[in-house]
Amino acid sequence: KPIQFDRIVQESVNKMQMLAELKDIILHTEIDSPIPMEADEERLHQLLVTVLDNAIKYTPEGGVVRVICSKFAHSVQLEVEDTGVGISADNLPHVFDRFYRGDKARTRQEGGTGLGLAIAKWIVERHGGKIRLESKPLIGTRVYITLPI
Ligand code: ATP
Repeated sequence: KPIQFDRIVQESVNKMQMLAELKDIILHTEIDSPIPMEADEERLHQLLVTVLDNAIKYTPEGGVVRVICSKFAHSVQLEVEDTGVGISADNLPHVFDRFYRGDKARTRQEGGTGLGLAIAKWIVERHGGKIRLESKPLIGTRVYITLPI
């Protein structure tokens, strides 16, 4: 189905805005527009919310989450960058595993199943795209998603 990707990104950001404000986290966006593409709108919405929820969840109060959505000739690139706790080099290769949760997450009071990124990866790959994470402990995490248009 033809959809507007930039609109999905903006709507997902709006949905998470309140959560960010509760933690005094600033959500910065740079979203190219328009970005028409063929995709499953509901799944992409789920993908965005999952990645944004992680970025906010693992970022301490007063942090910043940047969402950059860039349109290219045949693809769209989405970057979600946070100033959070980061992921150690030991844990990084496992974050897409089903039910995997980082050590800090495991002892957290809040919920979380460890399925978020496994599902995110499945959604991205079903759309013919790629997802990858870069992270530095105590500095932050950057999620890169590329989808064909
Ligand atoms: P949920 O199923 O609620 O999303 P979760 O966040 O624990 O639970 P995933 O989204 O699959 O599960 O993430 C897996 C692990 O990757 C997390 O437990 C956390 O350790 C790490 N992680 C994911 N995103 C970030 C991030 N932005 N910053 C730091 N760690 C992250």
